Amino acid sequence: MTSPTPPSPSSSVTPKRRLFVTTALPYANGAFHIGHMMEYIQADIWVRLQRMLGHEVHFVCADDAHGAPIMIAAGKAGKTPQQFVADIAAGRAAYLDGFLIRFDNWHSTDAPENHQLAQDIYRALRKAGLIYERSIEQFYDPVKGMFLPDRYIKGHCPKCDSADQYGDSCEVCGAVYGPTELRKPYSVLSGATPELRSSEHYFFQLSSPRCAEFLRDWTQGNGPHGAPRLQPEVLNKVREWFTVDEAGRGGLADWDISRDAPYFGIEVPDAAGKYFYVWLDAPIGYLASLKNHFDKGQAAAHWHEASRTSQSFDEFVADPAVEQVHFIGKDIVYFHTLFWPATLQFSGRKTPSQINVHGHVTVGGEKMSKSRGTGISPLRYLELKLNPEWLRYYLAAKLSARVDDLDFGADDFVARVNSDLIGKYVNIASRASRFIAQYFDGRLDYVGATDEMVQAASALADDVRMALDAREYSRALREAMAYADRINAAFDAAQPWVLAKDESRRAELQDACSRALAGFRTLSVLLAPILPATASRVARELFGMPRDFLWSDAAELPRRVAPYQHLMQRVDPKRLEQLLQAPAEPARPAAAPAAAAKAAPELASAPIGIDEFSRVELRIARIHDAQAVEGSTKLLRLSLDLDERDEQGHPRLRNVFSGIASAYDPAALVGKLTVVVANLAPRKMKFGISEGMVLAASADDSPGIFLLSPDSGARPGMRVS
Ligand SMILES: [Zn+2]
Repeated sequence: MTSPTPPSPSSSVTPKRRLFVTTALPYANGAFHIGHMMEYIQADIWVRLQRMLGHEVHFVCADDAHGAPIMIAAGKAGKTPQQFVADIAAGRAAYLDGFLIRFDNWHSTDAPENHQLAQDIYRALRKAGLIYERSIEQFYDPVKGMFLPDRYIKGHCPKCDSADQYGDSCEVCGAVYGPTELRKPYSVLSGATPELRSSEHYFFQLSSPRCAEFLRDWTQGNGPHGAPRLQPEVLNKVREWFTVDEAGRGGLADWDISRDAPYFGIEVPDAAGKYFYVWLDAPIGYLASLKNHFDKGQAAAHWHEASRTSQSFDEFVADPAVEQVHFIGKDIVYFHTLFWPATLQFSGRKTPSQINVHGHVTVGGEKMSKSRGTGISPLRYLELKLNPEWLRYYLAAKLSARVDDLDFGADDFVARVNSDLIGKYVNIASRASRFIAQYFDGRLDYVGATDEMVQAASALADDVRMALDAREYSRALREAMAYADRINAAFDAAQPWVLAKDESRRAELQDACSRALAGFRTLSVLLAPILPATASRVARELFGMPRDFLWSDAAELPRRVAPYQHLMQRVDPKRLEQLLQAPAEPARPAAAPAAAAKAAPELASAPIGIDEFSRVELRIARIHDAQAVEGSTKLLRLSLDLDERDEQGHPRLRNVFSGIASAYDPAALVGKLTVVVANLAPRKMKFGISEGMVLAASADDSPGIFLLSPDSGARPGMRVS
């Protein structure tokens, strides 16, 4: 099959796209986990494809710096929120550079651009008549002198009476409620009983018919490039949120966008002591980072062609042809498909073109916990000298455009990297280039027609381009690997090792090796968004190009190849095992490394991870009663109140034997608060069953046993962590 006209590279026929691409802004209170890396790698692959196609791309992100959790964490670390966030930000580059993730700009939502943009957008929404004030009743911590976010109030679930439930939902029975409905509420910050106080809050009127009508259209529409804004399963979810039942319940509710001082955030204009709720200014941080990128002159420097026609930030974001593409996780869909487009639309700005939602990463089938992370620490991965491109390839091989969760499996990882990436792709180059170096001085030549091969490569490049553009990465890699199979099969069928023994068949040998290397070059172009470092080496070192590959290089036939240099190693399953056994990263890495470095030499036991520690459930207990134990000089029998209830809902006390009789008079202990290991398996002792263990300090070289007691304000049942 031959064609009179050679197929033209796809990029030359596609009109140039102008793209503004973001990943979700990570909350600046902890290190990156594998879930962050998955999102950044997914977006980075997409961005690299668009760049290879010659499109204009501005790929930005920022730290999400505001809100009560950061203010509180900074206070605990003895830092200002600004310093706390700056320390977190300083740690980001190690991850991004380490995994070859190339943002054009990384900024912060606390930057001046974001203060300005958030206030401008708010003023515009106010002018549009979509902001109103309403007095609301909210819990106030009289000890800390601040209104409490829902997550900082705990108490008994109003439905099932389970203790220690958050102010917004019950983890035991799943009930959802408001914090004022909790029974026996207390402040997580001080332990104090919160007071209900009223305060003026600002609301965005999402329930207005204008908003509802706009969002109904917007969520079902397409971006400028013609792709639907939302994935089908995301659209289904959003439709549920719109639905109003016969009783008039459901539908879109207005959004409380202000918080009272003290709060780390952006001030609401003309409203003393009021700040924007962190979720109002967080997505505006996308624009702030883009503006910072343009204002620094980087946009033009990165994109020299664009500088001919443009361009300031304002001009760029006003261009209707610009596509605004967000990559996010499934947990923040509500904010990105309702609040964000509505605030943009009614402040007279361009709305997002595409919201690309992905699922979560599970490890060995287990859901990862936000506070504990997974067993896979991205930095540990790099420390173990595991190749970052293995992870990029592995994740790509499992990613599709759907919202499904992605499971990380060690065996699966080893198989995909060693059998596919190395066995099928890298091996082509090492096998074929050996003969070319030995017999042909690096020259490639083809016997007979090459049209068919060029057309196959061109068709494959189109298919893979479309799959990658649609974020069907696993499909793209399946097609690429099927092509690799065909190249390997043809190479084997030609039996070059037999041809090499016969001097009269040199042309056949050169042809077989040249075709294999042409196929390898095609694959290298198509894999370049996923394996940017390897592809760059292939382009420059093997094929002697002065630049990295462009997509239009995919179907070109190479004429020379340099002697093969080792490209990539196989995964050693043992090192991967080491990664999975490694303790997860501490939740607050900013403080942890220094403390660990200081304390480690003096510890009696090996260091443990936060995962291991968090399995120990420490709780505050009140000593309800203490008695001497007949027949024992060491033990006291303690009756402890952990604010627990039995199956009938009656208060329940625990029986614990403690070896503190030599140090304490039982009567003096009654009423004291202490710390107990609450999830220690009950132990049958000579005198009865012990249901826990109280914590006490002692030293080998000095007498005395000292029971631990919490600072004032702690209450029975509180978790110690
Ligand atoms: Zn409950």
